[in-house]
Amino acid sequence: MRERIVIGNWKMNPPTIADAVELARNVANRMPGGVSVGVAPAAIALPAVADALRDANVDVYAQDVHWEERGAFTGQISVSMLRGLAVGTIVGHSEVRRDLGDTDERVAKKLARAVTAGLRPVLCVGESAAEHAAGNASIVVARQIMAAVKEAPRRGLERLVVAYEPIWAIGTGNPATGIWATTLTRAIRAALKQSGLDPEATPVLYGGSVSARSVGEFASAEGIDGALVGGASLDTEEFAAVVRAFA
Ligand code: PEP
Repeated sequence: MRERIVIGNWKMNPPTIADAVELARNVANRMPGGVSVGVAPAAIALPAVADALRDANVDVYAQDVHWEERGAFTGQISVSMLRGLAVGTIVGHSEVRRDLGDTDERVAKKLARAVTAGLRPVLCVGESAAEHAAGNASIVVARQIMAAVKEAPRRGLERLVVAYEPIWAIGTGNPATGIWATTLTRAIRAALKQSGLDPEATPVLYGGSVSARSVGEFASAEGIDGALVGGASLDTEEFAAVVRAFA
């Protein structure tokens, strides 16, 4: 059986580092066993949150990382800066693609850098509303997967996690259905296989308006091994309910 994973992507929340630490402590106190739980705080809160979770059963992830090791890259963080703070990093989140101009090529370079540094990559893929309406979702996610993994060393990709996050479902309160997520999971696993990876060993998470109310649908959907949770991860009880659904 594949690992079950639920990760809270806190994005540009909560408002202060002290609030992030408090949220981290609350999460650590409420999490049931049987699921690998992670949180991804804003970069500035990483040291404090990592410290607060030092002895807890909650992994810390970065929300993004740069593809170069160091240099003139204003506002960016490198893999070496994450050492001792995060076990992995999200790459290719649609908000980073949208706001910071990440392309499939950049995502591939970030993934390769993360893997080389021993960080567990959580690769986000997903189609836009227009691509969805045009019936191109499977083609889009397959392209994103194949482009993203092509530069990374195969060995580090054994710990790859893929998050299927349809852009039209993120932050909208309108999640996809379990049946739809299962369909896209098949396209994702076919693309992993075509890329020479082991599709059955790779956990695939669903992300996009997952909440305590909607999670049951995804927890019981074939091929879905967990969730990447945005808004609902800022409320400890909601987040705990999502985690429990996958336990
Ligand atoms: C996300 O952006 O990764 C996400 C899943 O957000 P939300 O749960 O708020 O839709």
